[in-house]
Amino acid sequence: MKHPATRNTIYAEEARVLEQHARPAAQFVMKFHAPQVAAHAQPGNFIHLQCDPGILMRRPMSIMRAERNSNSIEILYKVHGEGTRLLAQRKPGDIVPLLGPIGVPFKLAGYRKFPLLIGGGVGIPPMVFLAEHIHKSSPGIRPFAILGSEIPFPFQSRPSQIMLKDLPGDVIATMPLLDDWGIPCRLTSLQGYPGCYSGYVTDLARAWLDNRDYVSPDDVQAVIHDVMRHRVLLSYEAEADGVTVDQLIDRLLDRVPVP
Ligand SMILES: Cc1cc2nc3c(=O)[nH]c(=O)nc-3n(C[C@H](O)[C@H](O)[C@H](O)COP(=O)(O)OP(=O)(O)OC[C@H]3O[C@@H](n4cnc5c(N)ncnc54)[C@H](O)[C@@H]3O)c2cc1C
Repeated sequence: MKHPATRNTIYAEEARVLEQHARPAAQFVMKFHAPQVAAHAQPGNFIHLQCDPGILMRRPMSIMRAERNSNSIEILYKVHGEGTRLLAQRKPGDIVPLLGPIGVPFKLAGYRKFPLLIGGGVGIPPMVFLAEHIHKSSPGIRPFAILGSEIPFPFQSRPSQIMLKDLPGDVIATMPLLDDWGIPCRLTSLQGYPGCYSGYVTDLARAWLDNRDYVSPDDVQAVIHDVMRHRVLLSYEAEADGVTVDQLIDRLLDRVPVP
């Protein structure tokens, strides 16, 4: 029986695997035939999929692309534990039960003229979906995407064909898919990948928002609390002493000399 509060917006599908492509560092791009999810997905949505018949608990994955013409959706995932390890073994033709689309999508109208799309690691797929949506629905809007990764990017980067004057001249690496859509994009990493900005996505974003073509130590300091806060685990002793993560980051800032 249908619950009166049911909105009927989430579909259960027996999705058929169409493609499974291995990318560097145990990352995979997977394409499914999933007509209902493809028809209703919006940027920001995710699916809950059953990685393997032996694992009942579904895993959430962001939708990276949804094509209504081909009734297909794409995800990009990194092998993390048992579920994603088994998911990586699924082959074209296999059936993967999934639920979707789930979640509140991004605001998809009334864009500012120059929206800034920022995503790192598994935060990249929703930005690709949003970039494609803007590209197809809003020709007057000119987004700029900054994507970061500390493992090799899940695509072959290349020098961008789109010049941007307010960025360091050596930061030229881009995601080809976005470049081909005419959307400027730049990549960031601390791993020294060619053409990438050496720092966090937020450092480059701040410099760009300030219309500067260089990144200063102030930029790093301005975002360091937001970037680091959820990555630091305090020891029991520190917690017992009432030390907060922000205080710890302040101490680090005091100790590390500005280059
Ligand atoms: C909204 C959302 C979107 C995401 N999008 C992406 C994406 O686009 N790409 C991507 O790579 N990752 C994404 N992730 C992360 C992804 O969901 C996890 O990496 C994935 O669930 C890992 O599954 P695993 O089985 O490989 O790892 P595991 O660590 O084995 O399991 C994942 C979680 O399930 C728990 N678990 C496992 N088995 C059981 C059990 N029997 N009972 C209870 N709990 C159990 C684990 O404790 C763990 O918390 C997203 C996560 C969220 C919340």
